[in-house]
Amino acid sequence: MTVTMANKLLPITVPTPFKVGPVNCFLIKGEVITLVDTGPRTAEAEEALVSQLREYGLSLEDVEQIVLTHHHPDHMGLAGQMSKAGKKVLGHWKNDRWLEMTDAFLEDHESFMKIIYSEAGVPEEYLKHVNDVEGYLSFADRTTCDVHLLDGDAVPGCSGWTVIETPGHAQSHISLYHESSGIMIAGDHLIKNISSNPILEPPYVKGADRPRPLLQQRDSYKKTLEIKPSFVYTGHGEPIDNIEDLIKERLIQQEARAKKVAMMIKEEPMTAFEVCQKLFPGIYKKEIGLTLSETIGQLDYLESEGVIARKKQQENILYTQRLGESYEEYEG
Ligand SMILES: [Zn+2]
Repeated sequence: MTVTMANKLLPITVPTPFKVGPVNCFLIKGEVITLVDTGPRTAEAEEALVSQLREYGLSLEDVEQIVLTHHHPDHMGLAGQMSKAGKKVLGHWKNDRWLEMTDAFLEDHESFMKIIYSEAGVPEEYLKHVNDVEGYLSFADRTTCDVHLLDGDAVPGCSGWTVIETPGHAQSHISLYHESSGIMIAGDHLIKNISSNPILEPPYVKGADRPRPLLQQRDSYKKTLEIKPSFVYTGHGEPIDNIEDLIKERLIQQEARAKKVAMMIKEEPMTAFEVCQKLFPGIYKKEIGLTLSETIGQLDYLESEGVIARKKQQENILYTQRLGESYEEYEG
């Protein structure tokens, strides 16, 4: 990182009440003082934000705009409050439904999750988790985006920074790239010590096919490999300086997991919940939402590769082997 960039890009670490731990926010001192991500709406997060800004000789009032990497509350929880204080909120338009949090959207989300759970064959006792998202959203205020950012856009007020759409972990996900220094702010698109979950979300157009987040995540990884950032700041934990190795490792891990799933389905046709139980023994009971999202991601991948097929059986979707003899040679 060049000295100039070091003065212009300042990291801020904010605590969260979530298992993932603290979130990394960033201050870009461009023509406009910009905060990338805000932390959740908690008194502790706000306090940490204010005190770290003070260390940089700034106050919250000095922040003029906020750029959101994605709509999860650990990244955008304080945006509503800051928007009320007159700061502009910038982000992908796919954040909007999550920032606005209308009752209609929350109902749509609930019905979408109910269908996913039912098709996956998830037992009754887990159905209460279709609404887990609402508890999570209580760490954010309702707000709106003032400016929408799309792939390739220059970040207003931050010369040299470009928007890169990186969906997968969230449909709304963007990363910011500073080409001349090779620095990327990747949010939760890439995290050094954990592989971020591809999370299921309803389609943006009612009745359309749902997004395939694991396939999107693979594409976002490959897109980042092509960009070749030299230094990547992430939403949680330490930055990454060997992005090529890390992405290749992530792709290999995912393919290995998919192969495991392919082998299970070769034994017998299974529902997503049955695969989930085998893939995440024990853990699925506590983390049904995340483990099911990950499982369905692997199934989407195998289906896209032509390895498995889906078959509707009453309410459930049953995944069956599709490749014939060549299945043995499937290398995932
Ligand atoms: Zn996060």
